[in-house]
Amino acid sequence: MKKHNFSAGPCILPDEVLKKASEAILNFNDDNLSLIEISHRSESFVNVIEKARSLALELLGLENKGYKALFLQGGASLEFLMVAYNLLNKKAAYLNTGTWSNKAITEAKAFGELIEVGSSKDKGFSYIPKEYNIPEDVDYFHCTSNNTVAGTQMKTFPETNVPLVCDMSSDIFSRQLDFEKFDLIYAGAQKNMGPAGATLVVIKEEILGKVERHIPSMLNYQVHIDKDSMFNTPSVFAVYVSMLTLQWLKDLGGIPFIEKVNAKKADLLYSEIDRNPFFEGIVAKEDRSIMNATFNITDDSLKEAFDKMWKEAGINGLNGHRSVGGYRASMYNALPLYSVQVLVDVMQEFERNQK
Ligand SMILES: *Cc1c(COP(=O)(O)O)cnc(C)c1O
Repeated sequence: MKKHNFSAGPCILPDEVLKKASEAILNFNDDNLSLIEISHRSESFVNVIEKARSLALELLGLENKGYKALFLQGGASLEFLMVAYNLLNKKAAYLNTGTWSNKAITEAKAFGELIEVGSSKDKGFSYIPKEYNIPEDVDYFHCTSNNTVAGTQMKTFPETNVPLVCDMSSDIFSRQLDFEKFDLIYAGAQKNMGPAGATLVVIKEEILGKVERHIPSMLNYQVHIDKDSMFNTPSVFAVYVSMLTLQWLKDLGGIPFIEKVNAKKADLLYSEIDRNPFFEGIVAKEDRSIMNATFNITDDSLKEAFDKMWKEAGINGLNGHRSVGGYRASMYNALPLYSVQVLVDVMQEFERNQK
């Protein structure tokens, strides 16, 4: 039986997506060729990437609103750099909510003045800063919607007149947001969409073309837009699997449907963390992530016993990020509610064993 996969990323994908993807490796579209041995300019593959791009916009409710969807390479980490390359003329504002924001800030610093408008570094990134001001004269504001490592999530986004740029790597397509508020959204595929190797970038085209520097072709969003996300060979397999996952999500009922399932999973687990005296949450309750629940065991001497139990129950990927320790249960879209129930049952059995 397949394990209950709480891995933070690369992460769980729907069974039916994995099945279709493995079939396509051997014989794609009944063409008697593999998906990964055909030209990316063949009609079969062009249809795939066009479908993936349109599904992404459709699920976010951004069709015909001046947005373009691209599937690029280099991960979200390259977007840290590309965002600044393409948008930062003089100054940009960043919200620092943890590991990934920090990396985005480090990359962007090479391009201009960075204003860290807020930071939760003082308390180990265990909350989302709320009172901060975004200067009117910055080129854009950058934030991270979900902090995969710390387990916090922005529940609201600031009202601002400057372009809003967001790293949504670990919660894209998981909850309803007013996506039109955002001018650029990026996400590495491997958290909630597909295998590693593709990065989804959704851009409002009108924000481009405002920097004076020369931008190398591969790092230039406009070049990728003009070439319909086919400036060079895209990562065909990652794009195909992402397309299948987006189709899976659409068939289920899209973001409104999955949001309810995700809320149920998170409620189930956080209720147990709060109830069970052997466990405790790590971050501010109002900022808890629906995707990545971080928690500690209250008595470290019992860690080994607990680890043995969840592993025996067929659970995978529960260890916290190496920089934080403790536990982290990542409950991405494809994780069934049943898997969360299995984890909660293990936590309850663990409690009973201590009596
Ligand atoms: C995983 C992650 C990244 C890094 O993604 P790569 O694709 O490995 O570059 C960036 N931001 C967030 C929020 C992440 O969860």
